[in-house]
Amino acid sequence: MIDAVCTYGGERHTFSILKFQMLPETEIEKFRQFLQCPECEGKAYYRKRSSDGKVACFGSRYHVAGCDEGHPSTQRDRETRHSVEVNKVISDADIISIDFMLANTKKPVIEEQAVVPTSTPTPPTKNANTSGKHTRNIEQSKVKVLGLEKILNSLMRGSDLAESSTLIELDTGYKFKAKNLFVNFAEAEPSANAKEAKPKMYWGTISHLDKELDWLNPSDCNDVGIPISKYKSIILERFNVSEGRQLEGAGIILFGKCFWNSKKTRKIIELWNSDRIFISVLED
Ligand SMILES: [Zn+2]
Repeated sequence: MIDAVCTYGGERHTFSILKFQMLPETEIEKFRQFLQCPECEGKAYYRKRSSDGKVACFGSRYHVAGCDEGHPSTQRDRETRHSVEVNKVISDADIISIDFMLANTKKPVIEEQAVVPTSTPTPPTKNANTSGKHTRNIEQSKVKVLGLEKILNSLMRGSDLAESSTLIELDTGYKFKAKNLFVNFAEAEPSANAKEAKPKMYWGTISHLDKELDWLNPSDCNDVGIPISKYKSIILERFNVSEGRQLEGAGIILFGKCFWNSKKTRKIIELWNSDRIFISVLED
């Protein structure tokens, strides 16, 4: 995208990338969470110039199908494929079980489909830190296992998952309707404090980070902050990130709690742990 529309202050102003990157840093920080694709109005991001000389650019992970600004790429093709696949899973399966470790391995992602008959012990999941000795009380339910990458890609590409009543199993015995579990950052409803907050799967895209890479700021809204300092080194290493710019425009899904900060000025989304997060870094 050569241009992006900025909706800051309720006005629509079109910036060229050349003009936007010349703005003072304070203006850029103010405007960057209000950017849209000029054609399809999909939420957009700004990526600053990289330390190794990659130019600054605008982009969007949310171009609608057919938007001329949404240039085809292998990454977008994969996201679209995942969206189609997840829609099929929703119509076929009774329960979708999330394997958090599936997204965290660097090996090719292989997902299994299992018809689980009564009283058959479930084989222990690879790398799962559960006891592995439980027996599922699912009678003839069709269970499909999905990793976070497919789930995130399908949500970003507008699959039916966000509105679906399909049951999602996070941990054995803990099931939620998909539509009650997956929440875009823009729709996050904070509890009064961390204690009262119920964890959900929050998703969206990252606009930018602070200089220390301690906070992720979503593109989808400007009132949410995700502190990652506690797990920073693990997360940055897992997703192969060495500078903040690499996360500008990245898709993200995480399991966590949303609550107000003490001044009630900002919604905090606190990660559950370092495993229950997936980041779809831009491949370019
Ligand atoms: Zn677009």
